[in-house]
Amino acid sequence: MSKVSNLHVDKKVTSKPINCCIFAPSFNTKKVLHPELQTQIKFTGIEGNQFYSTLRKRVDAYFTDNGISKNANAAMITKSVVLLAGYILPFVFLLAFLPSFGVSLVLWFIMGLSIAGIGMSVMHDANHGSYSKNPTVNYVMGHMLNLLGGSVFNWKLQHNVLHHTYTNIVHMDDDIADRLVLKFSPHTKVKFFHKIQWLYAIFFYGLMTLYWVFAKDIIQFIRYTSKGVTTTSKEENRIVLLKMIVLKVVYLFIVMAVPTLFFGIPFYQVAIGFTLMHFVAGIVLTVVFQLAHTLEGTTHPLPDKEGNIHNDWAIHQMETTIDFSPGNKLISWYVGGLNYQVEHHLFPKICHVHYPAIAGIVEQTAKEFNVPYNVNYTFAAALKSHFEALYRFGRFPINEAIV
Ligand SMILES: [Zn+2]
Repeated sequence: MSKVSNLHVDKKVTSKPINCCIFAPSFNTKKVLHPELQTQIKFTGIEGNQFYSTLRKRVDAYFTDNGISKNANAAMITKSVVLLAGYILPFVFLLAFLPSFGVSLVLWFIMGLSIAGIGMSVMHDANHGSYSKNPTVNYVMGHMLNLLGGSVFNWKLQHNVLHHTYTNIVHMDDDIADRLVLKFSPHTKVKFFHKIQWLYAIFFYGLMTLYWVFAKDIIQFIRYTSKGVTTTSKEENRIVLLKMIVLKVVYLFIVMAVPTLFFGIPFYQVAIGFTLMHFVAGIVLTVVFQLAHTLEGTTHPLPDKEGNIHNDWAIHQMETTIDFSPGNKLISWYVGGLNYQVEHHLFPKICHVHYPAIAGIVEQTAKEFNVPYNVNYTFAAALKSHFEALYRFGRFPINEAIV
């Protein structure tokens, strides 16, 4: 016996727009269809499996018994200030003191590290609604994505809805969609160059946020809205697109034009610095996000012809996600708890600063219910596993190679 469920972790994403923004993202997830099957993907959970309900009760009890809020604490606020300062101060220094080109590159590099940190540690939580109980705070902090030139609208659909609900399901999870010359799923078509993708992948990771700023958001927005997955009207979608383009122009004007027009820094120096900043941010963000799912040891389940995934949604998350470097305080601080992706995928509404504390509860409960709890204990082990997966995905499957 099995029961059909189609659990969407981030239910608020599908609800009405929040009051502070008329055209805040609002999606009709019933229209999110598998492109080949033209049906919704459903998880057919195992009747009587109490894993997730037991775990939720235990995690809730941890917060109630200790009188702790699930949202940001003082450490999270300090971290947000430090990372924001790490992005803004080098830029101010660059404009105010006009340092040598060599020093300016160091400043752009720091900005790249900081903006990746803001993306992972501040924007990510806020757009999940876990930074604060107050939606306006989440709205403001979530829009820090604009400091990277990205669009919150697309992020919420790609990440909160598609990635978190349909993790590692090809054609549904946009995080594992083929990108340019990269292939992140064992189920997409192998092309001859994929054989050496493990060798060139890191270079293309470096281009990820540049592509995001200049092209991806627009292409993605048109693709998403043409499928009717937004609850906003065509007119409102046009306004969202206009807002997206205007914010990108403002971003590019401030970061690229202002240093040259008002401070006399040669444009070629700004362009090189800007590219370096994005290259650093792109590598950090892509590597950290990939180390959770595109690894040896995770599964990439395919739905049946009716669109059913024969698994419980929470167990699916446990099988498609791996933690890395638990207990490494520096990594945990910088990557915003994304090294605790198992906990994040099960509890995206809990601020990441609490993940190390609830990891033990998740591990213990998984053990009791005989559910996998996957961990790479070091960053190096996770990185090695990621490149091994890229190597494997880049080869033809044995039967295909014979044909
Ligand atoms: Zn997330």
